Amino acid sequence: MSISQNLVYIKKTLPKEVTLVAVSKTKPVSDLQEAYDAGQRIFGENKIQEMVEKYDVLPKDISWHMIGHLQSNKVKYMAHFVDLIHGVDKFSTLKEINKQAKKNDRIINCLLQLKIAEEDSKFGLSKEEILNILNSDDYSSLQNINVVGLMGMASFVEDESQIKQEFSSLKTFYEELKPTQPQFNTISMGMSGDYELAIEQGSNMVRVGSAIFGNRNYNK
Ligand SMILES: *Cc1c(COP(=O)(O)O)cnc(C)c1O
Repeated sequence: MSISQNLVYIKKTLPKEVTLVAVSKTKPVSDLQEAYDAGQRIFGENKIQEMVEKYDVLPKDISWHMIGHLQSNKVKYMAHFVDLIHGVDKFSTLKEINKQAKKNDRIINCLLQLKIAEEDSKFGLSKEEILNILNSDDYSSLQNINVVGLMGMASFVEDESQIKQEFSSLKTFYEELKPTQPQFNTISMGMSGDYELAIEQGSNMVRVGSAIFGNRNYNK
């Protein structure tokens, strides 16, 4: 199926309240343009440089999401346009985003990444670390960021009950935080292989790449 057909198909299966981020990392601008022409306006990239290059040439009404692991020293290159940064897993990164947002006279939306997978390879903060950040004086002084929710990635395993349990632990933690974080509105979880499970467990933002654009070829 073509990119536009994939998009139409996926959109049809998503509940209204779930936002679709089209993950276009490694894909050429022509693929993003095809998705754009089919109505998609939110794109996710995992490398800042690549996102900047695509931002420069594509229509300006696209909302760009950074979903990858962040290098603080590169935040400045996207601070003038990025709409949501999903994978914040260090307080120092949050401070750098705040600094660069301020320079651009913006407020940048961020999600804190909660580590829900058992795999050591996955990035993310523990619940305790997230609580420490949200309750710190340092955090309340950051005027140019808005932490609007949580992001998580489940383990790459066959066992659906494990994936469900991991997503559900994120949702539960989100609900625990919500009373003291009225600005929270986003639960980013679910990818091509598990977004349906994620939605069942309460996700309202899915990050779907290969199911839209086809498999990625990293050896090009
Ligand atoms: C690549 C990526 C995705 C999309 O993965 P697919 O399996 O291709 O849908 C989602 N989230 C993050 C953080 C990613 O790096």
